[in-house]
Amino acid sequence: MCVWRQRQRRMARAWALAALLASACADRGPSPDFQVQGVGVLVRSEATFTTQADLPARVESTLRAALDYWGGTFEQLAGVTITLDGASTVECRGVPGAIACYDGDIRVSTLDAGVTLDCVEQTALVHEVGHAVIGDRDHHDPRWMDFAPVAEALSGRDGYQPDGATACAMAVSRWRHPPCRH
Ligand SMILES: [Zn+2]
Repeated sequence: MCVWRQRQRRMARAWALAALLASACADRGPSPDFQVQGVGVLVRSEATFTTQADLPARVESTLRAALDYWGGTFEQLAGVTITLDGASTVECRGVPGAIACYDGDIRVSTLDAGVTLDCVEQTALVHEVGHAVIGDRDHHDPRWMDFAPVAEALSGRDGYQPDGATACAMAVSRWRHPPCRH
């Protein structure tokens, strides 16, 4: 598509335009809405919690709790973009119908069984950070079936719904995944 456009417009403003298109082609995607510790966050959701002023701080502390659990550091997330997606499934290279994904970037749905979540802590972010830190696509590490320390670390926070504040209740079942058997 970039090549086609380049050909169409070459007559008009050859070099200036070619340079412009080349930089457009090299663009990795939309720029993040905000950054925490070098991690870009893209909000593609209307969930009430995504419009709150505390969102960056909540994302950061959730990432920190997840990194503590997985033994990782923010350096391991450098260059990763996290997308909070209002759709029930997210784009994921090679995995149709995923509700959350790590494929070099992290995408998490802000829905759970069609119901909008109350806070970023409830998303599968802590699960996907695990893949970013330890890989383990098949979930053989026993920590995929635990998550109790993360739930403990993130408990007692506020959640948000359109009609007001609620509790950000933790449910480890959203994060757990049994090992895949081949
Ligand atoms: Zn997983």
